Amino acid sequence: MRLTRENIIEILKDNSKNDRLFLLADKVRHDSVGDAVHLRGLIEFSNICKRQCKYCGLRSENSDIDRYRLSPSDIIKYADNAAKMGYKTIVLQSGEDEYYSSDKICEIIRGIKKLDVALTLSIGEKSFDEYKAFKKEGADRYLIRIETTDRELYKLMHPNMDIDNRFRCLEDIKTLGYEVGTGCLVGLPNQTIESLADDILYFKNIEADMVGIGPFIPHPQTPLKDCSHGNFELSLKVMALTRLLLPDINIPATTAMETLNPNGRILALQSGANVVMPNVTAPEYRAKYEIYPNKICITENPEKCRNCIGSKIMSIGRTISSDYGKSKHFKINS
Ligand code: SAH
Repeated sequence: MRLTRENIIEILKDNSKNDRLFLLADKVRHDSVGDAVHLRGLIEFSNICKRQCKYCGLRSENSDIDRYRLSPSDIIKYADNAAKMGYKTIVLQSGEDEYYSSDKICEIIRGIKKLDVALTLSIGEKSFDEYKAFKKEGADRYLIRIETTDRELYKLMHPNMDIDNRFRCLEDIKTLGYEVGTGCLVGLPNQTIESLADDILYFKNIEADMVGIGPFIPHPQTPLKDCSHGNFELSLKVMALTRLLLPDINIPATTAMETLNPNGRILALQSGANVVMPNVTAPEYRAKYEIYPNKICITENPEKCRNCIGSKIMSIGRTISSDYGKSKHFKINS
């Protein structure tokens, strides 16, 4: 669908037609990617991070957090367990933890790629050569949210980081033939509707294959602890508009949506989303990977999560995909 920046801003500002927007995004999702929901098994393997992102509970300056990192063999063990449960995609996510050298990540990739699964990495900013090495070992997708395309806001939120390097990472990932995943936070302090429209246009501009959108949730051990959380409906609207601009991409119903609304992921699945990323890490680590507070399901085991979300998905008349869930958009690119 062709929407100008002005159209997008107008839709984001006007709340009188939200239900129509959600219905339309749901129809576009149905017509473009079908009713199957792709499940991704998420392994949060280290909460150690060298960065100081103002919003994130894993930021290096937070000393009130119990840090952990999983060994390559444990990570592969969790992936194996997830594959046995039927997951066809594994997502590896962590803080930017330098313990995991390029060689260690390659070792982990090799172990996981023996399991007949697609592999997504979400481990932050790396060099072109590192991304190249990971691709060569068999990583299929890379997820790195731009977080916000507003240069000023990006600078405020990410001390000692450079938005141009973030853009460079996304370009490298594309050049190297990964399926490209990105996304943004909704409701950061001082974020404007105009900048959210620019975020959506950026996703379209880089022809992302996957876009994850979630509300900002203030974490008590961060400088943003007293800020208000992002708006649930606005996050849903940014997601629905992304579906209209990029009909055949993969869009996850994010966990942060469910933190703000007990039915958040199902509402997202009914407003344009077609992916869910249940956690497949053991309960002992889930609570510690606290990027924001009140994360859902932190006491659940992987089997319970899989069954719970599986029955919710079927209760709204959708099915669970049994294939790798490659982005349909990616085929067009390649
Ligand atoms: N280090 C990796 C993974 C980051 S954690 C990377 O840089 O890509 C995954 C995502 O969690 C981030 O991209 C961010 O958008 C989101 N996140 C972090 N803190 C958050 C908060 N307080 N509220 C909502 N989402 C948050």
